[in-house]
Amino acid sequence: MPLKLDIVTVERLVYSEDVDIVIAPGISGEMGILPRHAPLLTALTYGELRVRRGDDENSFAISGGFMEVQPDHVTVLADTAERAEEIDLERAEAARRRAEERLETMADETVDFAKAESALRRSIIRIKIVEARRRRGGRRAETRRPGINTPSE
Ligand code: ATP
Repeated sequence: MPLKLDIVTVERLVYSEDVDIVIAPGISGEMGILPRHAPLLTALTYGELRVRRGDDENSFAISGGFMEVQPDHVTVLADTAERAEEIDLERAEAARRRAEERLETMADETVDFAKAESALRRSIIRIKIVEARRRRGGRRAETRRPGINTPSE
């Protein structure tokens, strides 16, 4: 039985595919969802949402939201969601610096602490996901080298 995953934000439909498994950042920990999962509704936190489809794995930066699970359908309504490959690292690093500066000047009444903290958490998760993707990409390139997993070549 296929499991259809839709990831949506107020801005756009980010992803809509049949998948084998969804691993989502639930508020009380990572949750793995397979087809035929019992129905549930849960809040999501800042984190990485991973999707496997055959040998293909996709990763998304999520900054909170909700996930509705049905046996054949998962809907993620995220505050923001970006596919790992569309994350602009420089932009995330700039956002992180800005948020850190704002938090350092907390004494200043013009700083909205919750807003700055949320921006910091969004930027950190985006940076982590880009870095994790680079590491995974590096490992894949390594194992593709002749003589490592293809000794006959
Ligand atoms: P910035 O200050 O750089 O705009 P932000 O954290 O305030 O960052 P958000 O309000 O979370 O930005 O997101 C606004 C829109 O921009 C969303 O559609 C989000 O997916 C996208 N977005 C934010 N940061 C990035 C990034 N580093 N790479 C790609 N898309 C991003």
